[in-house]
Amino acid sequence: MNMIDKFIKKLESYNSFLIITHENPDGDALGSSVALKRTLELIGKEVDLYAQTPIPVNLEDLIKESDITSLDDLKTGYDVCLCLDCSSEDYLFGGNLKNLCGDMIVIDHHVTNSRYGDINMVSEKASATGELIFMISSAILGTIPKYIASLLYVAISTDTGSFSYSNTTPATHIIGAKLLKCGVEQGKLSEMVKLKDITSLFVRKKSLESIYAFKENQILVMVLDDENINGETDTEGLIDAIRYIKGCKVAALVKRIDDESFKVSLRSGGSEVDVSNIAHHYGGGGHKKAAGFTFKGSKNEILTIIKDIDLEV
Ligand code: 5GP
Ligand code: MN
Ligand code: MN
Repeated sequence: MNMIDKFIKKLESYNSFLIITHENPDGDALGSSVALKRTLELIGKEVDLYAQTPIPVNLEDLIKESDITSLDDLKTGYDVCLCLDCSSEDYLFGGNLKNLCGDMIVIDHHVTNSRYGDINMVSEKASATGELIFMISSAILGTIPKYIASLLYVAISTDTGSFSYSNTTPATHIIGAKLLKCGVEQGKLSEMVKLKDITSLFVRKKSLESIYAFKENQILVMVLDDENINGETDTEGLIDAIRYIKGCKVAALVKRIDDESFKVSLRSGGSEVDVSNIAHHYGGGGHKKAAGFTFKGSKNEILTIIKDIDLEV
């Protein structure tokens, strides 16, 4: 029996599941989680998903708050906890809930994954956790229904920038093609994932007002430090305004989340700098070209750290 068959057999041996994912869940985190929940429900399993709400506006047509179980409605015990799209235990939303569960299984695709589960299905080659869930859903169901295929399509297109980033492999395109054959309405979903609410215009304006440049514009930093902005403010995509400036090797978005801390997002633009190493060093994680961490300290301290990032590769 190959590894994936063994894994599926193990998965099918459980009856009740709790699915959790990372903080500030994105299209891969939520798309993969709901797709796996619905897959397991189709074979008669009991599955609760616990995740951070509100659902981002661009996903609310596909994923409902009713897909997510509130803290009060969680059961007292689950056979297993499935941790999706999260490289470290401390970045899980609801990581403490593992006490409610027998086993812990990690399903992820980050290079920095610390293998914190009893079983770890981690593949750095996968562009998105959605690719791994595609394999699981296909193995369990044979044919994937359109609504599950749509969730997986959103998961994969979120993490690959609509099948365009360097993490997009031949396998990613093959899976994309298979999902289209399941009836996925690609045009509709691609428009949907781009949606933002009106307040995003204010945040975008603010983000462009505070940009710092270091090392002859090779490091560009966007700082969001405004009383109207907090950890929950949607800042997805804002960093693109600096990461695609010619000559920029590392782009950083620094967002204040409370009096003492900032969330830092890093992207390596036109360079081979491995930002996952930097994020990991400061207690976070991610991928070679996209990573993040939470920083406790002052704005000046975080700016100093970013300005001194080593650009040699
Ligand atoms: P973003 O900058 O879009 O929030 O995150 C980029 C990548 O880094 C994502 O894959 C995300 O899961 C990961 N990441 C961001 N912040 C953290 C963090 O604090 N801890 C860990 N382990 N991963 C993070
Ligand atoms: Mn994610
Ligand atoms: Mn992902």
